[in-house]
Amino acid sequence: MTELFSLTPRAAEPLLRVARRSLERLTTVPELAPRYAGHAPVLTLDDVAALPPLLKDDLNTALAHLEPKAEHGATWLFQSGGSTGAPKLGYAPTGFYMAGVHARWQPLDRDDVFVNAWGAGRMWGAHFLAAALADLSGCQVIAVGSVTGEEYPDWLAFFAARGVTAIGGTPSVLRLWFAHARAAGLTLPALRRVLWLGEAWQPQLESDLAVVAPQARRWGMFGSTETWVVGTNTPECPADTFHPLPEQLVHVGPDELLDFTTLDPEMLNPVLRYRTGDAGRLVACPCGRPGRAMRVLGRRDNVVQVRGLGLHVDEVVAQVEREPGVSGAQVLITERQGRATRVEVLLLTAGQDAAPDLERLRKELLAATFTLSTGFQHDPEAFQVRAVDALISNDRTGKTANFVVREDS
Ligand SMILES: [Zn+2]
Repeated sequence: MTELFSLTPRAAEPLLRVARRSLERLTTVPELAPRYAGHAPVLTLDDVAALPPLLKDDLNTALAHLEPKAEHGATWLFQSGGSTGAPKLGYAPTGFYMAGVHARWQPLDRDDVFVNAWGAGRMWGAHFLAAALADLSGCQVIAVGSVTGEEYPDWLAFFAARGVTAIGGTPSVLRLWFAHARAAGLTLPALRRVLWLGEAWQPQLESDLAVVAPQARRWGMFGSTETWVVGTNTPECPADTFHPLPEQLVHVGPDELLDFTTLDPEMLNPVLRYRTGDAGRLVACPCGRPGRAMRVLGRRDNVVQVRGLGLHVDEVVAQVEREPGVSGAQVLITERQGRATRVEVLLLTAGQDAAPDLERLRKELLAATFTLSTGFQHDPEAFQVRAVDALISNDRTGKTANFVVREDS
């Protein structure tokens, strides 16, 4: 953990003070107090690394007890999760810690015309966080939020007329924007920057971008509603590699699970070795920036139980997305009283020239995936592959998870 940081003890001291305060706050939570009893005093970054990790439910328990309140301005409540887990609450002060992000990472400047296409409202933070960054950069902001299918062409024509230079959203939503532009034959020649946050970058975006906005380059942020922005990258970095901010300690634990310690003095959430479920490694970034960067390998919890066996949904999705004619995929699991009655692989084929051979793909997946061949050996017809016009996405965040579980009614 400490190798990520080349802090002198002097520079580390204010950060350690924040860690000690988070620890004190966590110790006041009755459910968590026994876990921290008898810990060594936190005098070095190594002492932070020796504390027990905090899981999503732990943080939720702590926040319910602590009810944090910002020292200045409003206290904002946000909802995290909901794509693949039960919703949790997170707190943030006005500004959303973006001053620290802007000090290190400036994808926007005063001359930019920026479309904020992260969905607003419904207690999701990304739209407001991007607005705070735009404020700091002094650019022109077009706060669009989320739009519905038939609205895209008109908005895109407006963006072209306004000479939009930057747009930001989750990769799933950005794909809709650029796919609609491409389908309508619209281009955004002035677009230079595509900001993204909320999901992994989707390489399929590049082919639409090459046609719609050939000058555009991606600028990514990595974080969560609990930690806020942990790291950022630039077009020179690989899309899965981020440079952590100085106030964010990143630690790689067993099974490459990442945990985060947020040491911004304004921080309302006691984020002390908090595990988001993401796995990763500390690497040297090919962009050449000194210091270690964080390569994010994806979530370790994308293994779902299907009839008592683990199904690696990311592997299934990656396999079918390599097929010609497939621009996206998702695993839909239908359950009745906790048992999977049906597993379907949904293939997004809209706007593609080639049509995938669904029955061949189905047979290949059944043969190659132990969980499917074993779990469905008596009723193989309960596993299907079908083409769809749209994948199932979260109405609130616009995120499209690799798997969705539905209750059979
Ligand atoms: Zn880099």
